[in-house]
Amino acid sequence: MKVLAVGSGKGGVGKSTVALNIALALTADGSRVGLLDADLYGPSIPLMVGIARTAWTQQWTLAGGPAKRLRPLRRHGLAIMSAGFILAEDQPNVLGAFSVQMLIQQLVHQTEWGSLDFLVIDLPPGTADVQQAVMRSVPFTAALIVVTPQDVAHLDARKAVAMYAHARVPIAGAVENMSGLRCPHCRDLVEVFPRVDEERSIWAMGIERLGSIPLDPQLAGSGDRGIPLLVAHPESESAGVFRGIAAELRLRLAR
Ligand code: ADP
Repeated sequence: MKVLAVGSGKGGVGKSTVALNIALALTADGSRVGLLDADLYGPSIPLMVGIARTAWTQQWTLAGGPAKRLRPLRRHGLAIMSAGFILAEDQPNVLGAFSVQMLIQQLVHQTEWGSLDFLVIDLPPGTADVQQAVMRSVPFTAALIVVTPQDVAHLDARKAVAMYAHARVPIAGAVENMSGLRCPHCRDLVEVFPRVDEERSIWAMGIERLGSIPLDPQLAGSGDRGIPLLVAHPESESAGVFRGIAAELRLRLAR
């Protein structure tokens, strides 16, 4: 099984959106794919795939509480487990590094994943103690970085790159998300953010860009409606980019 970390450094750059759609694209050739939403500070995958609150609670009750085996929910061909399934909705974000490590370890190792070809893990943003703890408890094959074309996003992503290097997790490449907006009239790509300072970008660190996803109203809408883009609009430009990235990842993770 190949374990792919999806990380960003900065929150709100589309990490969960990318993790979900890449996981779906990986199933296209019949691969068995698990998706773990380990973003303890804002588990959003369940909503993005249309799993209602009641189903989470039910899931947890059926599984029998802490220390028991966890059963993932199946949606759109993915086996899905989320930190949201086992955290209370209003639980404050004050978990220390140790608790985070325990929780993520539990989500990875106590879930009945069955046999998988890929496990995609949507990690919480940030680089400090929490991340280090996660790196120690999960055997990652490689990491995929998500950035937006903004200096701040690159600045934080550079720290994430350094952290993966420190933990000896190879970086398979990066996805540039929200890179421009396709004009609905002339189809030209409009740059939305000021140019990124190349020298201070992750590209300058030798990280390869595996694909660029534009700011896409269909992508934003599909997340909110609980039907992933690859399911709702498989023919869209963004869906094609996700499939291209997944194909490249398949090759890189096999090496
Ligand atoms: P993160 O996991 O990094 O916090 P999310 O994946 O939750 O980010 O995305 C944040 C918000 O931005 C969500 O509402 C999502 O639907 C939206 N979004 C992400 N990528 C795009 C995109 N390329 N175009 C439009 N909206 C996007």
